[in-house]
Amino acid sequence: MAKTTGDTCTFCGRGSRDVNLLINGISGCICDECARQAYEIVKEQLDQKKSSFGLEQKDLPKPEDIKAFLDQYVIGQDDAKRYLSVSVYNHYKRLLQKVTADDVEIEKSNIIMVGATGTGKTLLARTIAKLLHVPFAIVDATVLTEAGYVGEDIESILTRLLQAADYDVDAAQRGIVFIDEIDKIARKSDNPSITRDVSGEGVQQGLLKLLEGSIVNVPPQGGRKHPEQKMIAVDTKNILFICGGAFDGIEKKIAQRLNTRVVGYSASLETATVDRNNLLKYITPADLKSFGLIPEIIGRLPILTYLNPLDRATLRSILTEPKNSIIKQYVKLFEMDGIRLTFDESVYEFIVDKALEFKLGARGLRSIVEAVMMDAMYSMPSQDVKELHVTREYAEEKFEKSDVNRLQVS
Ligand code: ADP
Repeated sequence: MAKTTGDTCTFCGRGSRDVNLLINGISGCICDECARQAYEIVKEQLDQKKSSFGLEQKDLPKPEDIKAFLDQYVIGQDDAKRYLSVSVYNHYKRLLQKVTADDVEIEKSNIIMVGATGTGKTLLARTIAKLLHVPFAIVDATVLTEAGYVGEDIESILTRLLQAADYDVDAAQRGIVFIDEIDKIARKSDNPSITRDVSGEGVQQGLLKLLEGSIVNVPPQGGRKHPEQKMIAVDTKNILFICGGAFDGIEKKIAQRLNTRVVGYSASLETATVDRNNLLKYITPADLKSFGLIPEIIGRLPILTYLNPLDRATLRSILTEPKNSIIKQYVKLFEMDGIRLTFDESVYEFIVDKALEFKLGARGLRSIVEAVMMDAMYSMPSQDVKELHVTREYAEEKFEKSDVNRLQVS
């Protein structure tokens, strides 16, 4: 039924006299009323296709893209990066899922990362936050206590997320929370105290409610200082939790477990392959349990990954390779005064040596560079010098002059 007359609407058939406006196309016309309806349909369809967080499936960053982004800032730790990337990707997919007839509902997979302090757990969390399209909050488990004790209530975790989401409850309900130092709420039987829930078990029980997915009443200002504040109900069902902790001493438990296991018939084979310098890579949920996490919590953190200890080569890379490496930051600081700052390769070796000697780890690198550069940073801005080349002798001299004991691991 070709409509080429130009004075009736191709869609509703009304003539030009029956409508306000008739728009001519190449092989048909549309009236103002049909155009308006078409606009509504298009809008509705597009809105449906788009997720509530503004991304469509085709726009989602793939796990490999996420890892490539992390690689720019964090050296090594490939295992943790892969797990994190996949979890974030799956978290997005879960947010996009529609209820379908097959009744398959993707459930969330919270993560727990175990690694010595200063190996990059918080850095990973902060870096991933830069590329996220959902609200993200970092909280510290050390301040959490059971209600009624001195400290912060568990709900304060969600207060932080609400703040990160500008109090948009829907957005917060899709967010990601990084809980640092989760090991500090492990169950300890000794040292009873009336001011602090040292056993940690009460805190773990409280945390469990959040991890499981429930409606939690959250004080929007946090804390207990504002008893009059109106609570906001937050559903934690879709919030992804990433936990991190050093779990000091857990290697002993892993070693014990490995030793008992290797008594079996495949003993020689197993002992031959165990890397004694990095026992964390053999960590299992059972080790977390013997450390003092309750099984229910462990069950709600189904993805367990680890971070490697930082060896000499990694420390050396951390110094110069990340996108905002410590050395790059100092070069920039000097550049702002019009000074070109360069280093001898041997200076880097010296800095890494000192970090290892004083057991300062990656965090110590900055303190050492600071000690070496302090004099120059003090005097050079008022001098007419355009270049500073740091040699090993210069670095050694400045470092010896500084008070080594004051080097802080921040
Ligand atoms: P953790 O949370 O594991 O205790 P952080 O992530 O806070 O450790 O690391 C402390 C600092 O050490 C970081 O800010 C960063 O400068 C440096 N660092 C640690 N590990 C790495 C790494 N793998 N790559 C780059 N920098 C690192």
